[in-house]
Amino acid sequence: MIIDSQKYNVKCSCGHEHKMTTDFCIIESGCLSKADEYIEKSGLKGNSAAIYDENTYNATHMLHPKADKEIILSPENLHADNHGVALAMELIPANCDYMIAVGSGTIHDITRYCAYEKGIPFVSCPTAASVDGFCSSVAAMTWDGFKKTFEAVAPKIVIADLDIISQAPMFLTNSGFGDMIGKFIALADWKIAHTLTNEYFCNNIHNMTMEATKAVTESAQAIKNGDITAYEKLTYGLLMSGIAMQLLGNSRCASGAEHHISHLIEMQPEGLGVKSDALHGEKVGVGTLIACREYHRLKNSNLKWQNYCKASPDYIKNMFGERLSSAIIAENSDDCASGITARLIEEKSDKIRDIIDTVPTYEELIEKYETLGVKSELSDIEVPNEKLDIILEYSPFVRNRLTFMRLRRALNNI
Ligand SMILES: [Zn+2]
Ligand SMILES: [Zn+2]
Repeated sequence: MIIDSQKYNVKCSCGHEHKMTTDFCIIESGCLSKADEYIEKSGLKGNSAAIYDENTYNATHMLHPKADKEIILSPENLHADNHGVALAMELIPANCDYMIAVGSGTIHDITRYCAYEKGIPFVSCPTAASVDGFCSSVAAMTWDGFKKTFEAVAPKIVIADLDIISQAPMFLTNSGFGDMIGKFIALADWKIAHTLTNEYFCNNIHNMTMEATKAVTESAQAIKNGDITAYEKLTYGLLMSGIAMQLLGNSRCASGAEHHISHLIEMQPEGLGVKSDALHGEKVGVGTLIACREYHRLKNSNLKWQNYCKASPDYIKNMFGERLSSAIIAENSDDCASGITARLIEEKSDKIRDIIDTVPTYEELIEKYETLGVKSELSDIEVPNEKLDIILEYSPFVRNRLTFMRLRRALNNI
């Protein structure tokens, strides 16, 4: 399958002119062996540097696309953070004209960030269907302990070899499934925010992501069976989610309350007191079920709005401690929910309920999780289940982005 992403480079009915960096994506068995051909077709020329981690580089089924320099990073403690970027930056030759990311999410985020810093393009070669970030223009990084989304560069082309992706360990595939299923929540949050605050919304980008998400959800059994066309659908869904982010210029269509839960856990705030080595998509998968259950519970309540008060600095410090508080306080200084009133919620309550109905129920989702063996409980991702209340309460503060979870503070206990 070829995604000709340039076709999205048109004036959209939403009034915006969406811009794509990515020319095309190849999703096929054996396509990495033809990487040279595709790179030439894309017009990229000059000195190249391919970035791997040792695990991907040495995997038996792995192919190594031709590159002038191969950079192989140790996977130990390798994260998309200051340290990972510094390691890679040191090894990229000064005369490098383009980079090739060969790996999963971390390698891609490091490459994307370095490519942006150096002002050069990069080629994406995903080796597992583990995250939706391959095709995105933003890099999700941990910077000085704080989870941050940076503007970076989207790949010029994507070469997704299904022979390699389908051989990846199942926990990576499950992680991609978790990242993808989270779009149900992210899209509902976006639509609710648009309904309440008239935040910019593009129906085409929404529908594009929703279709891909539904197709992946329906493929759970086929992925489990190792069906190559199901891997194609999952990879397509993850790439389309990235393309949607590129078109939008931010992650609104792909990241809502479920990602905030994942980010809160990753930031390891003092008040939460947990450290989880679970993968991004595993955390998002668990966050999705938490948000799903809470959203449907609230939908069936009277949605009566009580006083919404901005979080006080002490309230934030209590959870986030000295290390993270000032960044969290600054992030929330212009609280995105401060304009919401009881009257507005009352006026829009039917619409909000309709939007929440676009999120499958917990029972529908858990069936898919169980089919594939996707992690579903906090305790599956090294977080005690009794931390649930803290997570529900504090996760919205990791980002000043209006979600239904943020509104929950004023809707709860009714
Ligand atoms: Zn649009
Ligand atoms: Zn994600």
